[in-house]
Amino acid sequence: MPVEANDSLEEMAFPSPVDYIVMGAGVAGLRAAIQLAEDGDVLVVTKESLGESNTFYAQGGIAVASWEDTDDVALHLSDTVSAGDGLVFRPAAEVLVAEGPARVTELIEWGARFDREGGALLRTREGAHSRPRILHANGDATGAEISRSLVAQAHAHPRIRFAEWTMVSRFMVRDGQVVGAELVPAGMERSAFNEHGCVSSRAVLVASGGAGQVYSDTTNPPVATGDGIALALEAGAELADMEFYQFHPTAFSFPGAPRFLMSEALRGEGAYLRNDRGDRFMERYHPLLELAPRDVVARAITREGLNEKGEARLVFLDMRHIKNIDLHKRFPGISAFLARYSLDLHRDLVPVRPAAHYLMGGIRTDLMGRTNVKGLYSAGEAACTGVHGANRLASNSLLEGLVFGARAANAMLEDNLPVSLVEDHTDKTLPMDQSDSALIEGQVTELRRAMWADGGLLRSESLMQEGLHKQAESETGVEFFEQQRKASRRSLEARSLCHVARAILCSALAREESRGAHFRNDYPKRNDAEFQKHSIYTGDGWVRFEDL
Ligand SMILES: Cc1cc2nc3c(=O)[nH]c(=O)nc-3n(C[C@H](O)[C@H](O)[C@H](O)COP(=O)(O)OP(=O)(O)OC[C@H]3O[C@@H](n4cnc5c(N)ncnc54)[C@H](O)[C@@H]3O)c2cc1C
Repeated sequence: MPVEANDSLEEMAFPSPVDYIVMGAGVAGLRAAIQLAEDGDVLVVTKESLGESNTFYAQGGIAVASWEDTDDVALHLSDTVSAGDGLVFRPAAEVLVAEGPARVTELIEWGARFDREGGALLRTREGAHSRPRILHANGDATGAEISRSLVAQAHAHPRIRFAEWTMVSRFMVRDGQVVGAELVPAGMERSAFNEHGCVSSRAVLVASGGAGQVYSDTTNPPVATGDGIALALEAGAELADMEFYQFHPTAFSFPGAPRFLMSEALRGEGAYLRNDRGDRFMERYHPLLELAPRDVVARAITREGLNEKGEARLVFLDMRHIKNIDLHKRFPGISAFLARYSLDLHRDLVPVRPAAHYLMGGIRTDLMGRTNVKGLYSAGEAACTGVHGANRLASNSLLEGLVFGARAANAMLEDNLPVSLVEDHTDKTLPMDQSDSALIEGQVTELRRAMWADGGLLRSESLMQEGLHKQAESETGVEFFEQQRKASRRSLEARSLCHVARAILCSALAREESRGAHFRNDYPKRNDAEFQKHSIYTGDGWVRFEDL
């Protein structure tokens, strides 16, 4: 039964031990939980309600090779590899495209309703895909439909238990092995926040998604603070490719409005990009025009969005020329959002600019989700198998969650680690008062601004050194509360964001070249001789480069 937001941990009374803990209820965590429940009891922990995840907000679709077109597996592979700009770990991409059709078929059997015409699945095209292969649901609400069907499937399983509004705050490590997790209630204003509880398990899966909140401008919801990545690092796990953050080129840009995503599928259906002089500018940047890889489009918009004095100029999506599609029907969610600002896809130019969207890097895993720490596994956006290389091919991440979520679960079952009971004893923390919370919030705001300015789309050594300096200031501010043994959900999130920011900046400084989503003004060229390798970041702050 789901735990209500205002339950204290004692009232939650989690079973301990459980066989498996899954941190996160997005596509990766849910897919894994369904598999794990075939052979064990599973506790799925999620920081807010079940729907609050990057998965739920995914719009455009899920890329999967067409089962009618026998060439498409090979083409999906070559599109994935070329989007990744020389850094895709090919065996991971081979797994993704080969196992994708079976995972999506299974999802359809579990009740996912993708859009169809005359019974046949509709497939659209997005940037850098050589064929239309993206399945979508309810027009532009694909993630919500995938989430709905997986939640229903998981709920029907008697061996899966959910802990909503509960935060994993630490992994329990014994003799170098993760043997469970510490949980705290995650409602913002909870006096019970200082109630901790430990749950022992055979293994823990980190499926906690990305960390878009490390940047001031992001399409990601507030839960995406990189907690799982930070906690895994603290437990001794290595991170890989953290410098590669994908900035979505077209998030809504309107004063006071949220950075709502204007899906790539809009350009897939023919939208143009125009600058404030009305020019279609992509022909100056890439032969694929508006369907060029995301990093190219995002940098082009950034450049067109500034005048010679560095002042902001508007850039727009334009669909006014599209007459053969009912855009309201094809994009109901986006149309409803735009209507709140009196804008209409058929009639108006839509102002856009880039926002942080997807983390290609993450916890380093093998092809079965195993990390370098025994008992700790990862899948989905929190993990890095190398499948996306330096730049993710649009709509490959929902598929990644399904494929690698199932694989990680198989590894956890296969490894069949014994349970080591951990004592339910951790240092209790003191609650924070309002002024403490305001100070923490201030540190988070500064950090996010610094990351956008210094570790964002256009990087250089001097900017990133400046960013590291500001990161250290934020970290000191956050540690001040830890020393007083004070904690809140926000202070734990702030700690995660500090870890993630440092990992991004250190990895980006070490990679003295430009590749995929990582662009340096001081090293504008790709340098295969030195850097056709993955960056590995460890808890001591060191970065080394090696093959996966
Ligand atoms: C607006 C938007 C549109 C997108 N559109 C597409 C698209 O069209 N196609 C596509 O392929 N991809 C898309 N993506 C990317 C894709 O949605 C994500 O990469 C993918 O869903 C990640 O799934 P996940 O299971 O790894 O993590 P998520 O879905 O992000 O789930 C993370 C889970 O971890 C939980 N969690 C986090 N921290 C903690 C903690 N400390 N304790 C407990 N639980 C925690 C969260 O509550 C959540 O349940 C989009 C992303 C966004 C934001």
